[in-house]
Amino acid sequence: MKNVVILGSTGSIGANAIKAVRNLGKGWRVLGLAANSNLKALRAQVREVKPAYLAIFDYAAWKEFSAAVPRGVKLLAPGVEGMAELASLKEADIVLSAVTGAVGFGPLLAAIRASKHIALANKEPMVMAGELLMKEAARWQARIIPVDSEPSAIFQCLAGIKPGQYDAEVSRVFLTASGGPFYAVKGPLAKVTPAQALRHPRWSMGPKITVDSSTLMNKGLEAIEIKNLFSLPVSKIEVVIHPQSVVHSGVEFRDGSVLAQMSPPDMRLPIQYALTWPDRARSLAEPLDLFKLSRLDFARPDFRRFPCLELAFEAAKRGGISPAALNAANEVAVERFIAGRLRFIDIPAVVEKVLAACRGDSRERLTLAGAVEADSWARQKAAETADRLRGKK
Ligand code: NDP
Ligand code: MG
Repeated sequence: MKNVVILGSTGSIGANAIKAVRNLGKGWRVLGLAANSNLKALRAQVREVKPAYLAIFDYAAWKEFSAAVPRGVKLLAPGVEGMAELASLKEADIVLSAVTGAVGFGPLLAAIRASKHIALANKEPMVMAGELLMKEAARWQARIIPVDSEPSAIFQCLAGIKPGQYDAEVSRVFLTASGGPFYAVKGPLAKVTPAQALRHPRWSMGPKITVDSSTLMNKGLEAIEIKNLFSLPVSKIEVVIHPQSVVHSGVEFRDGSVLAQMSPPDMRLPIQYALTWPDRARSLAEPLDLFKLSRLDFARPDFRRFPCLELAFEAAKRGGISPAALNAANEVAVERFIAGRLRFIDIPAVVEKVLAACRGDSRERLTLAGAVEADSWARQKAAETADRLRGKK
């Protein structure tokens, strides 16, 4: 029996992960679920999958739920503590982390130190301190299998190569991006509203990653995640705009041969693969019909129009606490943009200011605690910057 814990179960990836476990059928079980505050969705999931453990992050929601915990369910502590406990349960074989943002850092570390098979959608911790988390995973013999479609594609293309050999064998990584809702749109982006940014042309995802896709910060975060997951220099990562989202990324080897992974844009495939790896199983995703594809387009990204991409590469090159600061500043800016408190074009402005302010510290050696500290510092700095920009509006 494979016991699966799903962190962020009420989200877009989390809900699909529950379906994936159900699709895998006999021998697979959802052992525990975690969410933030959406009790309606969580209660429905509890009725459906009957988990043995639950974690609820938000204190008010946790308190409300704790008044009537269904029989057979153990409610763990609120906040990060309960999620970390869930991620390191003895009975858990696989931990799928699909919470949004840096809040997943502690639970991910707990899963690593409990030597779990980790299916990782939550990219933000890998941006903050991925290199150290990978070292920690090696030390504890935990496996991190990416869920995100592009890192999953690269992971699949690298099958058969020893992890220590990736840099020697790979000359380039083609990291594909749909381009988001504004790529083909001409004209200034100053008046972009949250509703427009939340309408993604290809993927249906949670609000934070959807906005990140519209600024192309998502691709920048993925570039840092990929650099860390596969120990590759960021200079080998080339972002390619590919509006059809059929080629999910590819790898060029030193002999010039390119392997790419293709499928229709459907997260159910990489979610399931991260669960079943190293095996494959029949998935709920539609198969690819090559005869229906009239064409595949590839283009260079416009770094000037989408400065977030440039900023992420800059943070990756600088290293140290810069990626953690970039990620935190972006989380704060995106949250404010969604709430109507910051303009679309001020998202990169906030990130740039925060990055500029952490310049001196970037060359210092990063530690796990340092990354978490940098996250708090950058949030504060980003909030101040965003307040100032709003004042000027
Ligand atoms: P959603 O916004 O749809 O879901 C987020 C989930 O995380 C919800 O279950 C939410 O709970 C939970 N959550 C949010 N904040 C907290 C918190 N503080 N404590 C505990 N749980 C919390 O996001 P997505 O599913 O779209 O994305 C999740 C992660 O996967 C992100 O890191 C994203 O970058 C990554 N990813 C997503 C893809 C996609 O297709 N959606 C593709 C590739 C990567 P509640 O509902 O209670 O708020
Ligand atoms: Mg992706």
